[in-house]
Amino acid sequence: MNVMEMTAKTKFADLTFDQKLDRLAEVAVQVGLGLRAGQELIMSAPLEALPLVRRITEHAYKAGALLVTTFYSDDPTVLARFQYAQDASFDYAPTWLHDGIAAGFRSGAARLAIAGTNPALLANQDPTKVARANVAVSKAGKPAMELITRHEINWTIVACATPEWAKLVFPGEPENEAIAKLWEAIFVASRVAVDDPVLEWREHGARLKKRMEMLNAKRFSALHFKGPGTDLTVGLADDHLWAGGGTTAGNGIDCQPNIPTEECFTTPHKDRVDGTVRASKPLSHQGTLIENIAVRFEHGRIVEATATAGEDVLNRLISTDDGARRLGEVALVPHSSPIAQSGVLFWNTLFDENAASHIALGQAYSTCIIGGEKMDTEQLATLGANSSLIHVDWMIGLGEMDVDGVAADGKVEPLMRKGEWV
Ligand code: ZN
Ligand code: ZN
Repeated sequence: MNVMEMTAKTKFADLTFDQKLDRLAEVAVQVGLGLRAGQELIMSAPLEALPLVRRITEHAYKAGALLVTTFYSDDPTVLARFQYAQDASFDYAPTWLHDGIAAGFRSGAARLAIAGTNPALLANQDPTKVARANVAVSKAGKPAMELITRHEINWTIVACATPEWAKLVFPGEPENEAIAKLWEAIFVASRVAVDDPVLEWREHGARLKKRMEMLNAKRFSALHFKGPGTDLTVGLADDHLWAGGGTTAGNGIDCQPNIPTEECFTTPHKDRVDGTVRASKPLSHQGTLIENIAVRFEHGRIVEATATAGEDVLNRLISTDDGARRLGEVALVPHSSPIAQSGVLFWNTLFDENAASHIALGQAYSTCIIGGEKMDTEQLATLGANSSLIHVDWMIGLGEMDVDGVAADGKVEPLMRKGEWV
């Protein structure tokens, strides 16, 4: 422990905004990445996140970073493409760039993504073009994304309040008010609005880990969700592993891949999901709000999908490939999580998925299978782990949800009642 850590930290409420931002940056580098001296850092960020990027970069170099490289995105230039680019543009992605980033990861770089782009940016664009552009990026980005989903490198995501996002979350407020409110919500949800955020994260991570170890010891063969509009059995993959409270990456570094995180999650069996499920929150996907999703599964596959708004976007999403109709993640989050209690719909999965128990369509995390990081796609599929170009979380948990664990011999054990751990 160094001298800085021993001196009492200033109360969060007494900090200036810049100091609060600095706390978030410190958590991102120390807790999120666990950045090691000598490591390179590759960051992606919206242009509006520049003040946060500068803080994170400072903390990274203080932690001994070899080099910090940031790729910026800018919403209006993304829109310009959808308005003016030739048709062929939407099936193209810069493979050379994605390959370069993958090469960086392979040679030891850590990855930090700052979330904050306008969730509704592409809401009024041609949905076919949006889907094509996403498929192109998913294909080009697959080598880099695999290193991330396999947790071979230490990585994290943190958020930055931006004007368009803030106006969506707090409509009717003047822009400055909305931004200030979104920042406060981010600080609270990200557990940095405390006197010692790094300590808070150590304790929070340990609590999640304890829960995760309990679930791993049970070796359930399925989970059963029951609530209004939901009667769903989610079979778990053979040799599934629960995760939560952080990851030890393949490079040996402990990281918290999501800031915030409140979930314990694992890999469902792609062929053993049956029943009906209703989303408990709207799903913001590529700028469209998909509302009141209701889905029926048979033998792991979605056979019926409806929504009261955005149904065409939902149908296009689940038609991306065969794996897009199957589950790649199931996660348990108590209704008492600070994000659920805030009642804020963030329009961003990083936050909204930590407000409620959820399932994700598409790609499974191979780290949620015993020995999975060393298996190829076929070996993983044999155990029931799904593969797809997409990974989209949607919320099914709510205050009225009951969850049971089902053992291999059919014995049922209550896990959650009315949205809380038993
Ligand atoms: Zn999740
Ligand atoms: Zn997920």
